[in-house]
Amino acid sequence: MLIVKKFGGTSVADKERIYNVAARCAEEYKKGNEVVVVLSAMGKQTDILLAQARDINPNASKREIDMLLTTGEQISVALMAMALDALGIPAVSLNAFQVAMHTTSVYGNARLKRIDTDRVRNELENKRVVLVTGFQGVNKYDDYTTLGRGGSDTTAVALAAALHADACEIYTDVDGVYTADPRVVKNARKLNEITYDEMLELASLGAGVLHNRSVEMAKKYGVQLVVRSSLNNEEGTIVKEVVNMEKMLVSGVASDTNTARIAVIGLEDQPGVAFKLFNHLARHNVNVDIILQSVGRDGTKDISFTVKEDDLEEAVATLERHRGGSLKCQKIDVERDVAKVSIVGAGMMSNAGVAAKMFEALYDVGVNIKMISTSEIRVTVLINAAHLEKAVNAVHDKFLMAQ
Ligand code: ADP
Ligand code: ASP
Ligand code: MG
Repeated sequence: MLIVKKFGGTSVADKERIYNVAARCAEEYKKGNEVVVVLSAMGKQTDILLAQARDINPNASKREIDMLLTTGEQISVALMAMALDALGIPAVSLNAFQVAMHTTSVYGNARLKRIDTDRVRNELENKRVVLVTGFQGVNKYDDYTTLGRGGSDTTAVALAAALHADACEIYTDVDGVYTADPRVVKNARKLNEITYDEMLELASLGAGVLHNRSVEMAKKYGVQLVVRSSLNNEEGTIVKEVVNMEKMLVSGVASDTNTARIAVIGLEDQPGVAFKLFNHLARHNVNVDIILQSVGRDGTKDISFTVKEDDLEEAVATLERHRGGSLKCQKIDVERDVAKVSIVGAGMMSNAGVAAKMFEALYDVGVNIKMISTSEIRVTVLINAAHLEKAVNAVHDKFLMAQ
């Protein structure tokens, strides 16, 4: 069997953890399996490197930031190869260049396009455990790129797909995918199985346990994932196309604080206004999430929407530039202290009253809703960030305690 295993930052945070992972990989190797291991940077190394970059130059170029960040993963794979060697297991570490993981050009948020498998296959044929740096790639300029925070999961799934692996196991610091972040919701329960679609929604709505692109890719290439703990032998959660379990109305709750609300007040109530507003933002690569437009009154209307907090400055600067020109409005208001809470579940599609039940849970704990957005399998609300913990717990317990 060819097995791809991925271990996150906390799982390789220090010498003891590195040896723990090395022992698990050695065990797999000794069973006669081919083992490819994707690693993240140790502990908080990526955050530390980012802070160093900001300290040296707050406006550092994205190319140089990626050049810096890729060192984190390189340390992990080299140390792991040394640990395996010490255990008597032949191993080799490879970075994105050596494997040849081709990505798009965008620094900081590149997408994997193609992975050459020759080098990895050769190493496997030579009976080595192959350790690959997660989170990084190489673009057409032969520069390093990174795949976005949490991107090592995507490296693992992409490798599993390219190598037609028999299994892809994502090892992390919790026992699997829970009905909510177990660090925030005390009654969160581990799920035995979850569908790609539900997992993709949860990941995109803030459940950091899997990088959302990794789920997208797993679905596209039919790679079944197992999410489990690197610290015990619990079974974990299987992420796949269809689950056998009894369908739950709601399978999980996710939250996201990386969000901000912009309200554009007193726009002209005329055709083309929304187009111009969002077109300016789109041209600056600002993604807009929840959108709310007020009913027109006295020839004016208001449009409010959310963006990632990371994009807020760019969004406001863009709007201010066009204000008075093609975009006439009275005021641009910004609110940073907001958070999104979402419920996700395939069962929602055929059930009325799910949104109402969520709003009731929020009412019960006195949380005001600022914005609402829904899809077939999701309801999202925007609330005051200060109320996040109590809101997530209330919503979770309303749907997932009784079931
Ligand atoms: P790694 O370094 O292994 O990639 P991450 O920190 O990226 O680990 O992801 C694991 C974390 O995801 C957990 O520690 C947990 O706090 C968080 N998390 C958020 N939502 C969920 C969820 N629904 N189920 C499990 N963990 C979640
Ligand atoms: N080290 C990277 C990060 O911290 C990638 C990852 O952990 O998946 O975002
Ligand atoms: Mg992660």
